[in-house]
Amino acid sequence: MECLNCHTPLEMAPSQLYARCPSCRSLFMNVAGNWQLYPVEKAEQESIERSLGFSNTADESVE
Ligand SMILES: [Zn+2]
Repeated sequence: MECLNCHTPLEMAPSQLYARCPSCRSLFMNVAGNWQLYPVEKAEQESIERSLGFSNTADESVE
Protein backbone atom coordinates (compact mmCIF):
# COMPACT_ATOMS: atom_id res chain seq x y z
CA MET A 1 0.00 0.00 0.00
CA GLU A 2 1.30 3.41 -1.00
CA CYS A 3 0.15 6.89 -0.05
CA LEU A 4 -2.52 8.12 -2.45
CA ASN A 5 -0.97 11.58 -2.36
CA CYS A 6 2.79 11.07 -2.60
CA HIS A 7 3.24 7.31 -3.24
CA THR A 8 5.37 6.73 -0.16
CA PRO A 9 4.93 3.25 1.37
CA LEU A 10 2.49 3.54 4.26
CA GLU A 11 3.06 2.60 7.88
CA MET A 12 0.34 0.22 9.04
CA ALA A 13 -1.44 0.50 12.38
CA PRO A 14 -1.51 -2.69 14.52
CA SER A 15 -5.16 -3.18 13.57
CA GLN A 16 -4.23 -3.18 9.86
CA LEU A 17 -7.30 -1.02 9.34
CA TYR A 18 -5.49 2.28 9.38
CA ALA A 19 -2.30 3.48 7.76
CA ARG A 20 -0.16 6.56 8.01
CA CYS A 21 2.11 8.16 5.44
CA PRO A 22 5.51 8.88 6.99
CA SER A 23 6.17 11.54 4.37
CA CYS A 24 3.08 13.75 4.14
CA ARG A 25 1.35 12.57 7.35
CA SER A 26 -1.87 11.64 5.61
CA LEU A 27 -4.00 9.03 7.36
CA PHE A 28 -5.89 6.33 5.51
CA MET A 29 -8.50 3.81 6.55
CA ASN A 30 -9.42 0.47 5.06
CA VAL A 31 -13.11 0.41 4.19
CA ALA A 32 -14.23 -3.00 2.97
CA GLY A 33 -10.85 -3.60 1.36
CA ASN A 34 -10.45 -0.17 -0.17
CA TRP A 35 -8.09 2.45 1.22
CA GLN A 36 -9.61 5.86 1.68
CA LEU A 37 -8.22 9.11 2.98
CA TYR A 38 -9.03 9.62 6.64
CA PRO A 39 -9.28 13.39 7.10
CA VAL A 40 -8.26 14.70 10.51
CA GLU A 41 -7.69 18.11 12.03
CA LYS A 42 -3.98 18.91 12.29
CA ALA A 43 -4.38 19.78 15.96
CA GLU A 44 -5.93 16.39 16.66
CA GLN A 45 -3.71 14.30 14.43
CA GLU A 46 -1.22 13.17 17.04
CA SER A 47 -3.85 12.04 19.55
CA ILE A 48 -5.77 10.28 16.81
CA GLU A 49 -2.62 8.49 15.65
CA ARG A 50 -1.98 7.31 19.20
CA SER A 51 -5.53 6.08 19.59
CA LEU A 52 -5.15 4.10 16.37
CA GLY A 53 -2.04 2.40 17.73
CA PHE A 54 0.77 4.32 16.05
CA SER A 55 3.51 4.55 18.65
CA ASN A 56 5.42 7.69 17.70
CA THR A 57 4.87 10.58 15.40
CA ALA A 58 6.45 10.13 11.99
CA ASP A 59 8.85 12.98 12.68
CA GLU A 60 10.39 11.25 15.68
CA SER A 61 11.26 8.10 13.75
CA VAL A 62 13.17 9.94 11.02
CA GLU A 63 16.36 10.80 12.93
ZN1 LIG B 1 2.02 10.74 1.54
